[in-house]
Amino acid sequence: MVPKLRTPNERSCELCDRSEVWNEAEGTWRVADGDDGPVVGSLHCIHEWDINGSFMPFGDRRDAAEG
Ligand SMILES: [Zn+2]
Repeated sequence: MVPKLRTPNERSCELCDRSEVWNEAEGTWRVADGDDGPVVGSLHCIHEWDINGSFMPFGDRRDAAEG
């Protein structure tokens, strides 16, 4: 087995459930196809992306700063 570095190729919005997949050929995110068509979500949403995998943002550091 060869360890393979995985880059995020799927992401979904925590606020409006928009779902996107990475289009390697075009080098851009594309709206994913859901069971009932593209999962567009809200066009006015600022999108809080939840990227699948081990990508970790700053987490709970904010709480320490407020203490
Ligand atoms: Zn959103």
